[in-house]
Amino acid sequence: MRWKLKELLQGKRFDENISILENELRTFEFLLNKLSDNISNEDYKKIVVLEENMVARIGRLSAYLGLMLAENTKSQEVMKFRSIFESFSMKYSDIVRKFDFWEKGLDTKERKGLNQKNVLRLSDLIKQRKESFLYRRKMANYSLPEDQERIIQRKDLNGINTVTELYDQITTNFQYELKIHGKVKKIKTMKEIMDYVFDNNQSIRKNAYLSYYKPFRENKEILFTIYSSVVKDWNIEKDLRGYKNSISVRNIDNWLSDEVIKTLLKVCEKNKIIYQEFFKLKAKNLGLKKISRFDLYAPLKKVQKKYSFEESKKIVLNNFKEFDKEFYQQASRLFQQEKIDAFPRENKRSGAFCYSVNPDITPYVLLNFSGKPDDIYTMAHEFGHAIHAMQASDKLPTLFHSVIPLAETASTFSELMLFDKLLKKAKDKERKMMILNKIEDSYRTIMRQAYFVKFELLAHEKIPKGITEEELSNLYWDNLKELFGDSVDIDENFKYEYLVVPHIYHSPFYCYGYSFGDLLSLALYAEYLKDKKNFVKKLKIILNAGGTRKPEDLLKEQGFDISKGEFWQEGFNLIKKWLNEVK
Ligand SMILES: [Zn+2]
Repeated sequence: MRWKLKELLQGKRFDENISILENELRTFEFLLNKLSDNISNEDYKKIVVLEENMVARIGRLSAYLGLMLAENTKSQEVMKFRSIFESFSMKYSDIVRKFDFWEKGLDTKERKGLNQKNVLRLSDLIKQRKESFLYRRKMANYSLPEDQERIIQRKDLNGINTVTELYDQITTNFQYELKIHGKVKKIKTMKEIMDYVFDNNQSIRKNAYLSYYKPFRENKEILFTIYSSVVKDWNIEKDLRGYKNSISVRNIDNWLSDEVIKTLLKVCEKNKIIYQEFFKLKAKNLGLKKISRFDLYAPLKKVQKKYSFEESKKIVLNNFKEFDKEFYQQASRLFQQEKIDAFPRENKRSGAFCYSVNPDITPYVLLNFSGKPDDIYTMAHEFGHAIHAMQASDKLPTLFHSVIPLAETASTFSELMLFDKLLKKAKDKERKMMILNKIEDSYRTIMRQAYFVKFELLAHEKIPKGITEEELSNLYWDNLKELFGDSVDIDENFKYEYLVVPHIYHSPFYCYGYSFGDLLSLALYAEYLKDKKNFVKKLKIILNAGGTRKPEDLLKEQGFDISKGEFWQEGFNLIKKWLNEVK
């Protein structure tokens, strides 16, 4: 089952599409001469409409290249067109940025930024754009004058960007030696060595961790220097731009308030006890007195069912059908319009994704279906993303993509629905295993990530004031001890765990996004169980908003107050309920 990509070019050649864009961009640049506080409503609308048109076409071309490459990573056609596309994109963003700066009220050499009085007039012209427009204005408070921004950008290129690149270069060059049954095996990639952490054999798991952490330990001073540099750079910029806290930089970028994230992390901390109980239970299941951190991911028996593609399709579609007719129709559309590349193939990208191109185009879904039980959840997940995009199809091309914090709402919700349905059909042992695996997943996606961020908060406080590698590693160790309590033995090696987490180098505080997304879906699912009839309507309003609304307000209007601990607690209560069943 393959997808059809031709529609993305709209009956023209790739380079013809680029020519059209070049023309539109010239017109756009010409229209920018009209930018002033007194710009007429008509001229302003003309500029916005033209920008949206260009975004839509660029979106199609970029999807064309991206999807072609995904279906064949050695595609010659992509190689051919990529460079003309990239050079156009660079020109494009240089010009469009001028409009963005003006709207944000930022002065440049060419013109003064739009004043507040006229913002009110213009933001009313295109209603769905209003809230994000005003938010961009607010975010501009954290911008520096244009010449300073340019200096920072250029210095970053050779400064902090190179430093984080060094982290990647050093760590991807690591090689690992793993002792398996007396023989030493050489392993080249992190992913391969990580697979052994999930092995059935206890000593293999332990050896895998030791071998995995060895090069990180041996280079801990260098990696610490890199991390310190990332943290200091982040905080220098935070001060220059006038953010309140280190984490505020991420929060504001995510259109979230500091309070919401503070509440989320507090509720996570309060519920660590769930996982402490879970790991005690897991020890019992593994026949151990107490679990060690080396055994954390020891496999619980998985259900070894195989599903055919047709079977999976039926189960997943029926699952949507029970929830809502429109969801079902939208998911079915992926098949009707041939939007799915379903099976593994040579040179095809691994994994799975949903690509939402434009509001008027049904999204594309890539799967690597092989019949494993996980594959059916992946299908539900990616279809959920596609439905999310289709629910927002009345929004403009720049606004129909969901805001980041809500991007995983429909996808993880679909998975949960499916899980609950399959759980109802499962009996005894199978049911127990499903629950145990689900709780363990939630440890990884919610609690573990929240504790990464808790550590980052500490690191960003301590590093600028001066701290040694050893002191920081010990803080990390303490953080782990707090998380696991007396439920897990934590070997000293794990105090270096923070050295192996790329996210905290590349995107500080990014990890709470996982906790946020997964716990939000659980909490919403709990609401759904309480009031199925009204919930569907509410969820649709949330999905329909795309990227137009501040998540906190949007959710609150539907009765979900994410600034309150009680809301998030609902999510954990569901996990607690599962845990109590298998205890
Ligand atoms: Zn996803």
